[in-house]
Amino acid sequence: MKSFEYLCPKSVGELVKILYRYDGKARVLAGGTDLLVMMKQGKLQPECVVSLQAIPNLAYIREQKNGGIKIGAMTRLREIEASSLIQTKYPLLAKAAGWIGSRQVRWRATCGGNLCNGAPSADLAPPLICLGAKVIIGGRAKRTLPLEKFFLGPGQVSLRRGEFLQELVIPPPLPRTYGIYLKFTRSAMDIAVVGVAATASFKEEGECNHLRICLGAVAPTPLRAVKAEKIGLGERWDEERILVMARMASEEAKPIDDVRGTIYLRRHLVKVFTKRILSECLEQAQKKV
Ligand SMILES: Cc1cc2nc3c(=O)[nH]c(=O)nc-3n(C[C@H](O)[C@H](O)[C@H](O)COP(=O)(O)OP(=O)(O)OC[C@H]3O[C@@H](n4cnc5c(N)ncnc54)[C@H](O)[C@@H]3O)c2cc1C
Repeated sequence: MKSFEYLCPKSVGELVKILYRYDGKARVLAGGTDLLVMMKQGKLQPECVVSLQAIPNLAYIREQKNGGIKIGAMTRLREIEASSLIQTKYPLLAKAAGWIGSRQVRWRATCGGNLCNGAPSADLAPPLICLGAKVIIGGRAKRTLPLEKFFLGPGQVSLRRGEFLQELVIPPPLPRTYGIYLKFTRSAMDIAVVGVAATASFKEEGECNHLRICLGAVAPTPLRAVKAEKIGLGERWDEERILVMARMASEEAKPIDDVRGTIYLRRHLVKVFTKRILSECLEQAQKKV
């Protein structure tokens, strides 16, 4: 491994100054479950590694007055998985966190690291996008971005000079909103071949009044299946409509062939998972679970 400087700032102000000074040549160290692997493999060779460990108040899950929540970037995946608040309000997010790596990995890995990796397969991304999450970006000036705009391409996220991911904000769930995340992997501890999340809610009369579908690992960034969403919004669903939505989501995916799966397999899985998730959301709504 190439030698590098290691810094451990004690405040956000200090962190921002360091990141600004190094202008893209420094890397933030959160849990290190991805960064250290990349550095050992020589894929990343930062001049400086800046740990977030000593900065207070970056790890928390806080309920807001409006019913939404805020999650600090240094919050461990295991804490998200085990949080009763998240399990109750956003069960698909707790599930997604619980499917990442092993328990040891989840005790180190953070939500900020999962998103800043910019991996198309990042498991937290599809559920958080469906939940309408925003990212709060710290720097010389704070800014807020819808999470789906944060991803720019494989390994690339919208962080400018001197910036870091500080916090996630998730709005309160709409009444009677159902959400599910499904992931297909080749084996335990492997990253997703395909991940699909959706959230849906329905009026008393049965029409769908909210729908978000987000696909992981089938495009350069996590991808909203907006055409499929249009087919379901404002409509009553039956088996036929759900199948049309699932087919459309599969068409919207832009997968590649790689060691984990073929284009054909990925499109097929998007269709199967979307159909299964939407059917389950409808069933739960009808039972008023
Ligand atoms: C065995 C194993 C299994 C895994 N399985 C999965 C899986 O199933 N699903 C999955 O999605 N991932 C998986 N991963 C990848 C990784 O563990 C997760 O993405 C994890 O959440 C990364 O978090 P971290 O805190 O360890 O990030 P780090 O490794 O510390 O950082 C990752 C990247 O994000 C940057 N970064 C981190 N935090 C910030 C911040 N706040 N602001 C700006 N930049 C930041 C770092 O500079 C680095 O480039 C796995 C990894 C291992 C080793």
